[in-house]
Amino acid sequence: MQTLTDRIILITGASSGIGAATARELAARGATVVLGARRTERLDALVAEIVAAGGRAQARALDVVSPDDMQAFADHALAVYGRIDAIVNNAGVMPLSPLSALKRDEWDRMIDVNLRGVLHGIAAVLPTMERQGFGHVVNVASIGAHRVFPTSAVYCATKYAVWALSEGLRQETDRLRVTVVSPGTTTSELADTITHTGAAEGMRDFRRITIAPEAVARAIAYAMEQPADVDVSEVVVRPVASPY
Ligand code: NDP
Repeated sequence: MQTLTDRIILITGASSGIGAATARELAARGATVVLGARRTERLDALVAEIVAAGGRAQARALDVVSPDDMQAFADHALAVYGRIDAIVNNAGVMPLSPLSALKRDEWDRMIDVNLRGVLHGIAAVLPTMERQGFGHVVNVASIGAHRVFPTSAVYCATKYAVWALSEGLRQETDRLRVTVVSPGTTTSELADTITHTGAAEGMRDFRRITIAPEAVARAIAYAMEQPADVDVSEVVVRPVASPY
């Protein structure tokens, strides 16, 4: 097993849920975490918490929808630390609704954040990782990358796409590690983005049984701590008591 000590790890969507738990977990294992999201006050509080616990963390405002913003985020980390060991493309939104509701803006939002955001994250670090000859790209997909549920067609489409992107990237490189992490229902703020009343009610039932975001964070740490020649290509982590 490798230690995470002194690894430089970028995490998108680190202001809540799985991203924040991953920041705490990786920092506690010795990594220096560079945290991005739009709610910077949340990020600043998280950095203070990690530093107070003896860890190393930095925060920077990031909107993954903007390729320039994403590139600036990665370039900042590279300028400060001299290398990028890993990125966790975690930022995501889930405004579910039936297709018949025609919530085109929300479809676009999911495609922009969940799919284009991951592509922007890959593009921002790939040249650096190829130049370095090492690097680890962790993309957070979902059990929604494996099966589709009513009201989640577009969300699942973005997550199937994240799965496909991850597999394609893994096949195209023999020096970088690529992991797709697919969580089942996990306690977080994710369902707060649902505006469709019926979908929100359905989700309350669907998300009755959840795991803590720390469980997903440990799965990410597990993939990162493997020996350099071992690629944990996919981890599915879900509640024992959930059928999904
Ligand atoms: P949260 O809503 O708690 O966290 C989502 C994070 O994404 C926030 O930090 C938010 O930060 C960030 N984010 C959203 N839009 C943007 C943006 N444009 N630019 C930068 N950051 C953004 O939900 P989770 O922790 O659950 O979600 C994390 C990932 O896990 C998502 O990809 C989600 O699809 C996936 N997932 C979650 C599951 C669950 O049950 N919770 C199950 C399966 C997958 P901010 O608003 O500050 O920008």
